[in-house]
Amino acid sequence: MKPARKLLIGSNLKMYKTIVETMVYLTQLQKLTTDLSRDDISVFIIPSYTSLPAASKIMGGVLQLGAQNMSWEESGQFTGEISPVMLKELNLDIVEIGHSERRHVFGETDQDENKKVLAALNHGFTALLCIGETASDTELGISVEKLRIQLKVGLRGVHADLIDHLWIAYEPVWAIGVNGVPASPEYASNMHAKIHETLVEIFPEHNNNIPILYGGSVTQQNCNELIVQPFIDGLFIGRAAWNADDMNAIIRKVLPLWQKK
Ligand code: PEP
Repeated sequence: MKPARKLLIGSNLKMYKTIVETMVYLTQLQKLTTDLSRDDISVFIIPSYTSLPAASKIMGGVLQLGAQNMSWEESGQFTGEISPVMLKELNLDIVEIGHSERRHVFGETDQDENKKVLAALNHGFTALLCIGETASDTELGISVEKLRIQLKVGLRGVHADLIDHLWIAYEPVWAIGVNGVPASPEYASNMHAKIHETLVEIFPEHNNNIPILYGGSVTQQNCNELIVQPFIDGLFIGRAAWNADDMNAIIRKVLPLWQKK
């Protein structure tokens, strides 16, 4: 049976592609996905800030565009920051908030992510809040506690009317990037169930359809076993999606499985 919600497959291009490279990638991906329907799938790509103006002009079909970060302030003395008002000018759909690298390389806290989530939702974006435990959390047996804190603090004050514009990406820190080890489907599924339970606790009055995506060393080899898990509503992919043919291959593998789920 076809699930009520569309499949979400996205990629954060981090600080890897130039404007020209991003445009080549997006143009190829658009060609490869023209037969797909927006009712079935959203393929969201989150390139560098510098690529956003050009990218926003060619988006369409199943492709959606996002920003990798955002200030919670609308304007002011914040050198180097980009405000929600500025991103609004670019016709973006999504703002990614709290990626592991923002938290661990740039020292962002759950309180910072909370201000960004509130600002993104208030400005009409879909807020994609990334959460995930570190290897040391896992060793200490506090992974679930860590995720619950990230959700409870990160989503504090979010009005239930706006949660249709909220997506969560679960990305265990030890699973991300070149040294990452993917979570097993069982482990990911268990954590997604806990995240779902926590979201129900935070928003008891809502029917709780908040999509929870898995990210961290997703590949063409493991995407199938991940997407069939009960609370995995999409995939957030790095390295394995940065070539348009590879991204398309993953989409073609998981979409039929999702539709049977
Ligand atoms: C990421 O950095 O968010 C990510 C999921 O990367 P990768 O798929 O390359 O592990």
